[in-house]
Amino acid sequence: MPKQLEAVDVVIVGAGAAGSVFAAVLAEAGKSVVVLERGRDFKLTDLYSSQIWARRLKWAAPQVVEAGPDSIWPNFNSGSGVGGAAIHHYALWPRYHEEDFIEHQLYGRSLDWPFEYAQLRRYYDQVQKEVGISGDAAKEPWRPPGDPYPLPPVLVSKHGEVLARGFAALNMRTAPSPMALLSRPYNGRNPCLWDGWCDAGCPIGALANPLVVYLPRAQKAGARIIANAAVTRVLTEDTGQKVSGVEYYTSSGEAMIQPASSVVLCAFTIENARLLLNSGSSRHPNGLANSSGLVGRYLMTHPSVSVAGLFKEDMQNYLGATGGQLICHDAFGKKSDPSGAFGSRQWAIAPALKPNDLLGIAMTRPDIFGARLHAFMLDAARHMGSMVCICEDEPLPENRVELAAQQDKYGMPVASIRYRVSANGKKLWATAAQEGVKVLKAAGAREAWAGPPAGQHIMGGTIMGLDRKKSVLNGAAQSHDVKNLFVGGPGVFPTSSAVNSTFTLHAMARKSAEFMLANWSRIAA
Ligand SMILES: Cc1cc2nc3c(=O)[nH]c(=O)nc-3n(C[C@H](O)[C@H](O)[C@H](O)COP(=O)(O)OP(=O)(O)OC[C@H]3O[C@@H](n4cnc5c(N)ncnc54)[C@H](O)[C@@H]3O)c2cc1C
Ligand code: SF4
Repeated sequence: MPKQLEAVDVVIVGAGAAGSVFAAVLAEAGKSVVVLERGRDFKLTDLYSSQIWARRLKWAAPQVVEAGPDSIWPNFNSGSGVGGAAIHHYALWPRYHEEDFIEHQLYGRSLDWPFEYAQLRRYYDQVQKEVGISGDAAKEPWRPPGDPYPLPPVLVSKHGEVLARGFAALNMRTAPSPMALLSRPYNGRNPCLWDGWCDAGCPIGALANPLVVYLPRAQKAGARIIANAAVTRVLTEDTGQKVSGVEYYTSSGEAMIQPASSVVLCAFTIENARLLLNSGSSRHPNGLANSSGLVGRYLMTHPSVSVAGLFKEDMQNYLGATGGQLICHDAFGKKSDPSGAFGSRQWAIAPALKPNDLLGIAMTRPDIFGARLHAFMLDAARHMGSMVCICEDEPLPENRVELAAQQDKYGMPVASIRYRVSANGKKLWATAAQEGVKVLKAAGAREAWAGPPAGQHIMGGTIMGLDRKKSVLNGAAQSHDVKNLFVGGPGVFPTSSAVNSTFTLHAMARKSAEFMLANWSRIAA
């Protein structure tokens, strides 16, 4: 028999980006909060600036088999342990554009969010003050309305300067990257050293990961964070009207039940859908919160492509943060792509480079080895510049998470992913690769090349919407079917935009948590 624990107001599944925001806001308002995290406990002092060490932040991907024609890159995009993927994320935090929320309204295709940008704006403004974003709002001509950033922009090294020259030569605009890291000391935290180790987790707390901003606030307010606690099911009352808590397993395999007045799933996109599908009952035969049949559907990633070039200048490509120095959103118009593809694109320019590993200099030329690779590295270590284009994905119902026949060690079916990059995504990729090479050549590159396509960020699977037949959650990320069940993270997004997801998921988590507090008597009754 599982061990029954003392009931709490809120149990949150996952101690990553979204879970940390819910935990802080709800605990600070006086709710009793328990956060269950499948991975190990991490502190800032556990983080080492080493690519080899950093692999342990990434290895524990969700339990996934990929059954579709394309990969959604689950291992690259996921994280495990207190802090989640957000512990080793790169802190590029642009806002969604206004049109990203109303694509169906404007263009008669894709989906609409259940609210417009204006309803999320105040949460973006609040979050940017809390985490400390560096940037220059006035220099981002594409930015939707919002307060100026609390901190001046990030460093621009020779790398950024040279690549910006290429954009300018082609009449394209660049602006300082809005980054959730500190260009100056802020709220007692250290500023960035520009040493480019963000991918291994920033050990000095300059980058706003959950370990430095929201989890300490949550713990100070009394929230308990329990690591090595793998949640396998959300439990439902016999009536099926409400959830009653979660079942989880400790690292020694002991089964526990954590009863709670409300449950918030923040276990990242794939795992949230997997948990709901695995939490069916006689009242919810197709999985919990799934009366629409849409749990797991509309899975998205950002098709992305890196381009690199060799320059005569010493590019100082080792300097800066991994998320880059400059952005360009000139290709954000949904119908501006020369190929006719629908969707927007974002350039993230001049990331700090390391010699090796997945995003390193050597990996830009997987086709060469031996003496040629040696000569290339001698040259590229000083003279390579690079940038990455992030393209919008289409929300397609056939791209989905299901339960596989294969089970994990707790007897829970693993997630089976069926994903195909859309025809639009492929065209945006191709345009980006060509445009990127042109920009680098215009910046003076003696040679320039595009890398293979990849997928960044994972969104959808538990989308919000106004119509309960066409979505899983309402505009507060509350289940249409079960009033005391909420979801956090990019899985709730109905559209992907072409910007990174973490600022928007923070704003959304704050919106949901504040909704929970304002409606507590109805939710918990
Ligand atoms: C290399 C990399 C770079 C990135 N760079 C950027 C960037 O520059 N800008 C940006 O906006 N975004 C970036 N991201 C994306 C960002 O990390 C995610 O958007 C964000 O972390 C998602 O938040 P989340 O709370 O949904 O998931 P996470 O932060 O991953 O947290 C989910 C947590 O749930 C836990 N969990 C999973 N299953 C269970 C279970 N069954 N029981 C208990 N716990 C469970 C996981 O272990 C994890 O700790 C990057 C991601 C990666 C991997
Ligand atoms: S570049 Fe800045 S934010 Fe990234 S790890 Fe180094 S100090 Fe931290």
